[in-house]
Amino acid sequence: MLITTRRKLLKLLGTSAAAFALPSFAQPPAFPKGAIIRTLLKDYAPEELAIGATLFHEHLSLAPDFMDKFRAASAAVQAANGIRPAGNAAPAAAAAPPRPAAPAPTRDLDAMVADINKAKAAGVTCLVDAGHADMGRDVEFARRVAMQSGMPIVACAGFYSQPYYPEMIATMSEDMIVQALLDQVAANPTGALGEIGSWDEMTKDERKVFRAVGRAHMATNLPIITHTGIPGKAAIEQLDILEDAGVKPNRVVIGHLGNLVDANVYVHKTLCRRGAFIGFDRQGGGGDAQVVPMVMALIEAGFADNLLFSADASSGYDKTMTVFVPKVKAAGATDEVLHRIMVDNPRRLLAFVPKK
Ligand SMILES: [Zn+2]
Repeated sequence: MLITTRRKLLKLLGTSAAAFALPSFAQPPAFPKGAIIRTLLKDYAPEELAIGATLFHEHLSLAPDFMDKFRAASAAVQAANGIRPAGNAAPAAAAAPPRPAAPAPTRDLDAMVADINKAKAAGVTCLVDAGHADMGRDVEFARRVAMQSGMPIVACAGFYSQPYYPEMIATMSEDMIVQALLDQVAANPTGALGEIGSWDEMTKDERKVFRAVGRAHMATNLPIITHTGIPGKAAIEQLDILEDAGVKPNRVVIGHLGNLVDANVYVHKTLCRRGAFIGFDRQGGGGDAQVVPMVMALIEAGFADNLLFSADASSGYDKTMTVFVPKVKAAGATDEVLHRIMVDNPRRLLAFVPKK
């Protein structure tokens, strides 16, 4: 009876695994000696996580008022850019900014574990919770989810963006912010600095935080995950500031660049040429239609190794694999390229050699 059930289960897993198989035909990526991917429960050799996809930007928990602040900040950016706010007569689909990942995530452990297990069945092997203290990320909840689901979860450290900073950021020196970041890194097993954000024109404090994050990277080698607003104006400047602090662009993913809609992908290509990763990380929903052509343009321009996909989700962690990847495949991306994007690129971003 048990065997039958187990067989059935394996058959089921086999079926879904086949549907999302992303075979590797290319050379596996090489990692620096001593590189690890640091998750909440243990450090992995990057090769150990080669069996499936890694989602580089998701959220397991956020503060109860997070989405209200997010909507307010987004609306201010859209107004500043002359984009009609949603809610007035329906804007044209192309002009409608993608909505932020829906409701705040559940704190129901069983429901979260069930959701994470769905992602596992869809081929997800590792997941980054890109939140941190000032976004209301609950690290103990993430730890319990990791223990109960067996999903390796990468936790982050950082300061988010202007409307979310703790009040003291305004008066803290850059040195003090660097130290605060290092304290966060020391407080939990930390696998990345992220998400580190700005909205439109970067504010004075956002620039200060970005400089401090660059320096915290230099002290730790931790990869950096950023957040840009709509339409991603600050993308180049974010990389400029980090690079100026000594960060190599290939240690950085500039996030949310599906919001920067441009058929010519000029800014995206500029970032790729400099070696940075591009985050198409609000996928698996309405924003996909505007993103798929940009993904294909970048693949055709030879930048597949710079692309990262995720959903910035607070539920439905399978949708990058079950909804978005099939759309990119239908648009002509090969399994080999999709394997690089979903399996290899996130490990190349996340693997780092810890500094003593
Ligand atoms: Zn996010």
